[in-house]
Amino acid sequence: MSRAYATDEQYERWFITNCCHCGRRRHKAGSWPDGHVCRTCLDRALRVRGRCPGCGDERVLPGLRDDGLAICTDCAGFTASFRCSRCPEEGKLHRGRLCTRCALHDRLVDLLGDGSGEICPELAPLATSLLDAPRPLSILNWLYTRKGKPESPESLLRQLGRGEIALTHEAFHTLQPWRAAAHLRELLMACDVLPQLDKQICSLERWLIGHLDTITDPGHAQLVHQFATWEVLPRLRNRAENTLLTPANRRFAGEQIKLTTQFLTWLAEQDRSLETCRQADIDTWHAHHSEHERSRVRGFLLWAMASKLTRSLRLPGP
Ligand SMILES: [Zn+2]
Ligand SMILES: [Zn+2]
Ligand SMILES: [Zn+2]
Repeated sequence: MSRAYATDEQYERWFITNCCHCGRRRHKAGSWPDGHVCRTCLDRALRVRGRCPGCGDERVLPGLRDDGLAICTDCAGFTASFRCSRCPEEGKLHRGRLCTRCALHDRLVDLLGDGSGEICPELAPLATSLLDAPRPLSILNWLYTRKGKPESPESLLRQLGRGEIALTHEAFHTLQPWRAAAHLRELLMACDVLPQLDKQICSLERWLIGHLDTITDPGHAQLVHQFATWEVLPRLRNRAENTLLTPANRRFAGEQIKLTTQFLTWLAEQDRSLETCRQADIDTWHAHHSEHERSRVRGFLLWAMASKLTRSLRLPGP
C-alpha cells in the first residue's frame, strides 16, 4: 500500500462520511445523535424554527422525532449547542461560535470602524440597516464576493470606513466598478446617509463621466460638462421633485448631451467656436439636420445664449 494511498484513506475516514440525512458522501460538518451530517443538511436543519413539539419552547428545530416532526436539540439529545457565544440567538454558527448577526456585526465594526471598536457615527445608519436586514447571512456572503479584489464590497466598505470615499454623490460618480458602487450608493441612500436621488439621474450622471472621457477637445468637454451640470441635471432634479422620472426622460437628456457634443465638433470643423458662431452657421446646421437632432440641440443653444457664451441667435422652428 503506497503512503499517498494510506493518507487518502485516512482522510476519507476522518473527514468524509455518508450524511445521515441525505445519504451522500460528504465532509462531516456535525455529529448528531443519528450520525454525521453534511454542511448542506446542517445549515438546512438550523433554518427550521418554531415551537418544539417535545418541550414547547420556541427555538431552532434541527432534530427529527420518530414521527418525522422537527424537534429542538435538547429533545433530540444533541451534545452540540447552536447557541451564539455572545447573544441568545440559536442557529448557524460562525468563527468564535458567533451567530450570523453577531459575526456580521464584528465584520462591520472591522470594516466601518474608527479603530476603537466603534463604527464611525456617520456610517452607523448603514451598519444598522445591514444588521437589520431580514437575511443577515446574505449580507455576510455579499461581503465575501470578489474577496481580496480592490472592487469587492468589502474593500469599498473599508474605504468608506477610512474616509477614503467621501459621503457625497459626486464621489460615487467616479467610483469603480460602477455596478458595485451603484449598489453601495443605493444602500447609503436607503438609510439616508446620502440624500435620495432619482435612479434615472444616477444613471445619467454615471454615463456622463464616461461620455466626457470620450471628448478629445478639452474646451468642448468643459462646455458639455457645464451644460450638463448647470442646465440638464438641475432641470431633471426639479422634475424629479414632483414626479418619478422615466427612462424616456433619461434618454432625452442623454441625447441632448450627445448631440451637443456633435454640434460642437461640427462647429469646429467649420472653423468656428461658440463665440464666433454666426446666424449663417446656425441656419446651415439646421438645414442639414433632422427635426429629432434640432430638438436635442435647442436646449444647449438657448442655454449658451442665456449664459452669454454665444451671440444672440435666431433658432429656426423645429
Ligand atoms: Zn446531507
Ligand atoms: Zn424541545
Ligand atoms: Zn449572536
